[in-house]
Amino acid sequence: MNPRPNRRQFLTAAAAFAAAPALGQVPASGEVDIAIIGAGTAGIAAARRIAAAERSYALLEASERIGGRVTTGTGVFGIAHDRGAHRLSASGRNPLVALGRLEGLRLHDPSPIRRLNIGAREARDSEYDDFTTAVRRASRAIIAAGEAGRDIAAARALPDLGDWQATVAFVLGPLNTSKDLDQVSAVDFARAEERSDDLVCREGLGRLIAAAAKPLTVSLDTPVRRIDSWGRGHIILETARGTVRARALIITASTNVLVSERIRFDQPLPKRTADALAALSLGTYDRVVLELSGNPFRLVDDQRVIFKTADAHTLALVGRVGGTQLAYAELTGGFGRELSNAGEATMIAFVGDFISAHFGAEARKRIGRTEAVRWSREPWIMGGVSAAAPGSGANRRVLAEPVHDRIFFAGEAVHETWWGTVAGAWISGERAAMAALRQVGGASSRSGPAAGRKKNK
Ligand SMILES: Cc1cc2nc3c(=O)[nH]c(=O)nc-3n(C[C@H](O)[C@H](O)[C@H](O)COP(=O)(O)OP(=O)(O)OC[C@H]3O[C@@H](n4cnc5c(N)ncnc54)[C@H](O)[C@@H]3O)c2cc1C
Repeated sequence: MNPRPNRRQFLTAAAAFAAAPALGQVPASGEVDIAIIGAGTAGIAAARRIAAAERSYALLEASERIGGRVTTGTGVFGIAHDRGAHRLSASGRNPLVALGRLEGLRLHDPSPIRRLNIGAREARDSEYDDFTTAVRRASRAIIAAGEAGRDIAAARALPDLGDWQATVAFVLGPLNTSKDLDQVSAVDFARAEERSDDLVCREGLGRLIAAAAKPLTVSLDTPVRRIDSWGRGHIILETARGTVRARALIITASTNVLVSERIRFDQPLPKRTADALAALSLGTYDRVVLELSGNPFRLVDDQRVIFKTADAHTLALVGRVGGTQLAYAELTGGFGRELSNAGEATMIAFVGDFISAHFGAEARKRIGRTEAVRWSREPWIMGGVSAAAPGSGANRRVLAEPVHDRIFFAGEAVHETWWGTVAGAWISGERAAMAALRQVGGASSRSGPAAGRKKNK
């Protein structure tokens, strides 16, 4: 909770501006201008805006940490690595790039960022050309269908790509959207922002998001269980640690969490909103992190390797994560979910078999410790990223509409073009904050240039 500070408290707290957000020990009850559910990227962006306007807020996070799908940990390896998002796409326009630089984080451009392998060897120039042409043809066909308003499954728009079919379907579907293309709307696909010019944060993207949260007060271990939007002009939130009354509410929980009804709405959401949440469900983007000693595949730092495949039973490898011996095996889409449902041992065994099949049995011996990260099983996330179901391409716009004039959705699922990205989540959080601020009467009359810094501990 961050009750509105008086001038003296504000100055004292600003003087105590520290390197970490005020976490955990904050009572989650009382009255605020705006409550925010979720301290992932969108929630943090929203809270910063509200703090800058000197309005009081409660940033309520269900889990024991901030960051949501962006988190840097050391796991069993003792080496920092991203467990979720790893890249900042469209770096020229990505608002988090400037923030990262301001925080002194090292953002680097892995180049060449993608590699295509055919078995153990890197593709020849002519094979790269064939593959690139096939990807372009496939994306153009899906985009043409989507732009023409044909909201069919993206898979139905695919031309015949010969022996590149399965590889291209994997790259554009599971790897790009976390769903197979037969479950992705061509309209949603067509609206997506081009994702290129990626930058990687050497210290971990989770560090960048944690730095963004520095000025904020967050209530951790505070799942919101019930929302009552009836109370005269107020929304009442029942949390595991008390009751919060707010004049406006921003919800950033993932669509899968919302559809699972882990949060009860006393006053049901309008049918169109509930339908939009269901249509924008998350696919699967799970991962095995592995130690690979000695860079056996001669990868550039943070380079992503795609393998030519004949079916959906494939993965993408990210090598030398942050310049270390760690690699990621990305297990995505329907096949990723199958493996994940079968358990961590099955995920890890598949990765070992895949490396053996592509690089030989000796290569498998280079694998050291491993760790499976199952976002699809995280109780407060429940999946990878949102991708609209066929026929539902217009639903992000629906989610962006306020509900009962005072409930605002934010998060990657709400951004029409940058969905599925950290940048989309951030921008949607800022937009929701601006809308919620308008609802509560705008910025506090006291807000000035110092706003946005830490208010209370
Ligand atoms: C493995 C993986 C790799 C990815 N790679 C990239 C990448 O390289 N680049 C990129 O741009 N994007 C990537 N993404 C996508 C990116 O991580 C997401 O788009 C972004 O982090 C979503 O942020 P968000 O704030 O919308 O949601 P979240 O991060 O899901 O935040 C929502 C928060 O709400 C909390 N919450 C849920 N329910 C409640 C409740 N009832 N009460 C209180 N709190 C609650 C959750 O605990 C969570 O902290 C990746 C995603 C995954 C899974």
